[in-house]
Parts: sequence; structure tokens; C-alpha cells
Amino acid sequence: MNKFEYVWLDGYRPTQSLRSKVKVDDYADMWAFDGSSTQQATGGNSDCLLNPVAEYKTLDRIRADATQTRPGLEGTYVMCEVLDADNEPHPSNTRTHCQNLVSDEWWFGFEQEYFMYKDGRPLGWPEGKGKPRPQGDYYCGVGEGNVVGREIVDRHTEACMNADIGITGTNAEVALGQWEFQVLGSGIRAGDDLWMARYILQRIAEMKGVSINFQPKPQTGDWNGSGMHTNFSNEQMRTTGGQNIFESICKVLGSEHTSAMGVYGSGNEKRLTGKHETQNIKKFSYGKFDRGASIRIPIATVNNNWVGYLEDRRPASNADPYKVMRHIVETLTGG
Ligand code: MG
Repeated sequence: MNKFEYVWLDGYRPTQSLRSKVKVDDYADMWAFDGSSTQQATGGNSDCLLNPVAEYKTLDRIRADATQTRPGLEGTYVMCEVLDADNEPHPSNTRTHCQNLVSDEWWFGFEQEYFMYKDGRPLGWPEGKGKPRPQGDYYCGVGEGNVVGREIVDRHTEACMNADIGITGTNAEVALGQWEFQVLGSGIRAGDDLWMARYILQRIAEMKGVSINFQPKPQTGDWNGSGMHTNFSNEQMRTTGGQNIFESICKVLGSEHTSAMGVYGSGNEKRLTGKHETQNIKKFSYGKFDRGASIRIPIATVNNNWVGYLEDRRPASNADPYKVMRHIVETLTGG
């Protein structure tokens, strides 16, 4: 028998959250749940179905950490899409639309920023109205007072590696208690990996009595918000490339800026202010090496004779990667 932890997206709007339940069985098969408790069905007709789409196996290397003060994450984590009782994709199932459109030719590198929270405020922040000292020392910082929560981050990285999630790095971010991890993948797998990485992060933080805050601007004032910068490329960008190709991609994405803002995460207007390394939400711009632009053309791409990738800096930390991937591919392929 194995332990399968089924993970899925609920039906809440505008931001969906992760849910999970555990099944002990020989293999992971379709499984029903009560959709009336997740805004996915009415009480009179409440059954929805979990259809396994990606399995992330055994994290038991973590358990080998001897002290036993660290509960195990062992088992198989099963990313699921939600179907209605007739086996059709549920309206909340954003994955299915993404999968139909996004082939493995498309690569996505997500930079997932987030805050750790405890007692209703960012981890490490003083009680009451007090604030930590201004931003400056925290980004990629080291040492007591400069970073908090590293144990959670280390464990998360290790767990993602062990589960074969395409994690490529982590770093402490600009505000105290704010962190980032990066996930790279091709096609739909990139979205699956990011959702599962979010799940495992919340799961590990939970053991420490810490919550993960994915809101794009949890702290007003002179504090950075959290984004989900999305680096992307297709075959043409990675092989022949060319300045004209890259600039025309930026322009086409710019022509759909308004529709992008509809699917790039809620509350994003609080983050995209034109300050703190963002462009204003009402504007669209692109530029070489420009972290104040909507889309940044990385120096690596320019130096490589305009072969490489682009960075869409607009998505919020709470954006659904399936929706972001779909928007980019749909816009660029007329799909
Ligand atoms: Mg960052």
C-alpha cells in the first residue's frame, strides 16, 4: 500500500487555493470529493472528481533526517485536475485549457515570490505598529536580523529536488520575511511543478506554524510586493531568434495588455505601481535589461545575438501559472 496525497485547485474566485486529501491504496486512481465545500458544486449535487495528472514520488529522504522532530513528507504527491460528475472538465479547471494549447516547445521559468507570515504579520517583523529597518540588507542576506525562515526554504528546496520538481534556485528577497524560488519546465509540466512546489512549501511551513502569503502586496508603504516573473521561450526564440522577432513578440503581448491583467493575478494593481522594480499597471513597456518595464529583454538574450528568452514581469505572486502560460501562448500563436 502507498500513501497518495491528492492535490487540487478549489473553486474560489478570484484566487484559487490548493486543497488536498490522502488516499491509502495500491495506486492513484480517479477519486471523488465534496465540491460543495470548495465552491465547486452545490450541496444537492456535490460530487466532483479528482483526475490524477502528475505524480511526484516519495519524499522520504527528508524523513531520513534523524531527529524525528521533523515529521515526514514521505509518500506520493498527486497533482489532480477537477472534473464534474459527468467526467467533463470543471469550470474551475484552468489546467485543461492550458494543456490543450501549450506544447512542450514552450519553456517557462517562474520566479515565485512570497512572504512568510506568523501571527498576522510577516515573519520576523516586530509586534504592533513597529516595522523592521528599511529594505537594503535583506535581499540575498545572511545572518540573524537579515533573514528569517531559511530552514523552511532549505527544506523546501530539498523536498522539490527529491520530488523531481524543476526547481532551479531560491533566494531571500528585498523585504524581511520575503523569499523567492524558481521553477523551470516545458509545456504543461511547468505549471504542474509550480503548483506542487507551492503546495509543498505550504506543507513544510505549516509544520513550523508559519503560513505562506502569496498576495502581491501584503504590506503597503516602502516594501516590495511579490511577483511571479515569467520567463518564456519557444523554439524560434531559442534557435534563430533575432531582434525583430523579440521586439515583435513584445509588441504583440503589449496589444493584449488589458486582457493579460485580467488573468495575471488579483490585487496586482497594488503591486504594479511603477515603483519597487515594476511598471505601472496602466502602462505597457519593454526594454533591454529594464526591471521597470513590463517585459524585460535579458542581457543574456541580447549578448547571445538575440537568441534566448523574455521575462514577463507583470504576473502577480498569486497568479495561476496555467492562466499565464495560456495567455502568452494564445496571444503569440493567435491560438
Ligand atoms: Mg525576485
